[in-house]
Amino acid sequence: MKRNRLSVDQYVSGVLKGDRMVLSRAITLVESTLESDQLLAEKVMEQVIPHSGKSIRIGITGVPGVGKSTFIESFGDILLEAGYKLAVLAVDPSSQRSGGSILGDKTRMEKLSADKRAYIRPSPAGSTLGGVSAKTREAMLLCEAAGFGVIFIETVGVGQSEIAVRGMVDFFLLLMLAGAGDELQGIKKGIIEMCDALVINKADGDNVEAAKRAQREYANALHLFPAKENGWYPKVKVSSAVTGDGLKEVWQMIQEYIEKMMSNGFFESNRASQRVNWMHEHIRYLLESRFYQNPKIKELISSSLEDVRNGNASAIAFGRLLVDNFIQIKER
Ligand code: GDP
Repeated sequence: MKRNRLSVDQYVSGVLKGDRMVLSRAITLVESTLESDQLLAEKVMEQVIPHSGKSIRIGITGVPGVGKSTFIESFGDILLEAGYKLAVLAVDPSSQRSGGSILGDKTRMEKLSADKRAYIRPSPAGSTLGGVSAKTREAMLLCEAAGFGVIFIETVGVGQSEIAVRGMVDFFLLLMLAGAGDELQGIKKGIIEMCDALVINKADGDNVEAAKRAQREYANALHLFPAKENGWYPKVKVSSAVTGDGLKEVWQMIQEYIEKMMSNGFFESNRASQRVNWMHEHIRYLLESRFYQNPKIKELISSSLEDVRNGNASAIAFGRLLVDNFIQIKER
């Protein structure tokens, strides 16, 4: 069942007023793959973007079960108490395949979900990496314009979506467990290199000592990496999302990072290069989606797929032929 769309003005004014219903509908609009929705979404984004940019953007990743949603829920208490409004966008790689989502299966962040000062939304992973960036970034900007001062973007830490998320946040945090090797946790070395902080979660009860040991080990290991260009050395912290221990320290660290990066100019230069990358991603996204949605291209692909499959037509030659055809097709 498809609801009627709002007008550009209705989307924009609703989002700027912080109307959660309109915010949700605006995010649904930007997530739509229909060409007509995309054109409308672009108009909405054009007007919303000047009102965005004022939040702290935090990426959080870690394997399923490490405690991300519990962490965000407890961390939310600190943020709400400090007067922030918090939005959480969860990039869910399962949503594209099943149409449903693992994140939606259980009620996550129950307390936060019920709080008017928080907004939680699963973000579909999309069929391409560009899809993750395009939709999640636009959802993030809409949340900012709606007045959310801290945005969490959550991923499950096992795929490529981390790279996309790293490219749209100010601070990237990796949650880990003590006593399970990186291999076991499915954490790739590249992800550790990308993060600004590593937090060993579930540091409570009998696990406190092991967590502290892991903290020392990771701190030593991280020292072997060269310093980042912004002068920040990734920090290792311990936390318990259940008792709340260590969460204030994590928030202080993030604030310290933001302050440092603002004063040395990295904060703005990082966002500036993210915007340039965004444009390139958007170009790739548009090219790809227009190409595959073009009726003539669809027809050509379906008529020759079998020849490519059984080797009668060359994949390379046919790929080039399709792109050449696409460039010559006069659109609209
Ligand atoms: P996610 O899949 O990364 O979002 O993990 P969840 O937040 O759903 O947590 C997975 C399980 O670990 C749940 O049963 C939580 O109650 C538990 N958990 C999360 N954080 C902690 C923690 O700091 N300490 C302990 N003891 N359990 C935790």
